Amino acid sequence: MDEIKLAAEILKNSKYAVAFTGAGISVESGIPPFRGSNGIWNKYEEKLFDIDYFSVHTKEAWDMLCDGFYKTTLNAQPNAAHFALAELEKRKIIKAVITQNIDGLHTKAGSLIVYELHGSGATLTCMSDGSKYQTEDFDLNAAPVCKKCGKLLKPDFTFFGEQLPQEAYQNSVAASSKCDVMLLVGSTGTVYPAASIPQLAKQHGAKIIEINPSPSSFTNSVSDIFIPLKAGEAFKNIMSLIP
Ligand SMILES: [Zn+2]
Repeated sequence: MDEIKLAAEILKNSKYAVAFTGAGISVESGIPPFRGSNGIWNKYEEKLFDIDYFSVHTKEAWDMLCDGFYKTTLNAQPNAAHFALAELEKRKIIKAVITQNIDGLHTKAGSLIVYELHGSGATLTCMSDGSKYQTEDFDLNAAPVCKKCGKLLKPDFTFFGEQLPQEAYQNSVAASSKCDVMLLVGSTGTVYPAASIPQLAKQHGAKIIEINPSPSSFTNSVSDIFIPLKAGEAFKNIMSLIP
């Protein structure tokens, strides 16, 4: 496929390439996306992910989080696409991964510079005194409580009604303002403000390479090259051309 060759060529010649990833990159790791026909939102109501609802109806919201999120992600493993991005960072081609995902798979795959725009499921924070904990240290069958004060712990991913983590957001804005190439993988561009990041890269002159199995809202607006494949397959092909 000519687009694959072109993408490999552009990456090899890039000075500051950045990846921007969404739920589509983790589908091949067995994690269902939030949106779309198999999405979590078809099974659960969005209000269960609302911060005010979580504080009041904790048991109901927690059961959903456990069933819909933790059970699928805690044991999930990175796939070829996550590993390829980590490898490209080692080869000093990719300088940062900006992700909308909260599954931690980029870090598990070995990527070092990862900006998690929607936070992470790997840690929990006390809603009362701010103490931080590792999620893996808790039995998640019941809502976890703080070991110091006994109050409720909240997962460190962004609920509806919460701001994006500001440091991750600022770092993402900075990286996308200075990158010359952005690899856009598995994001459909429907969730704002995250979806404005590729637009920002485009405005600053970056070439946008999009990998998605079917066209997205980026395809005819910001993308210069569109590779219509699943992430794992696309990266296997691209990596075979980057020695
Ligand atoms: Zn506490």
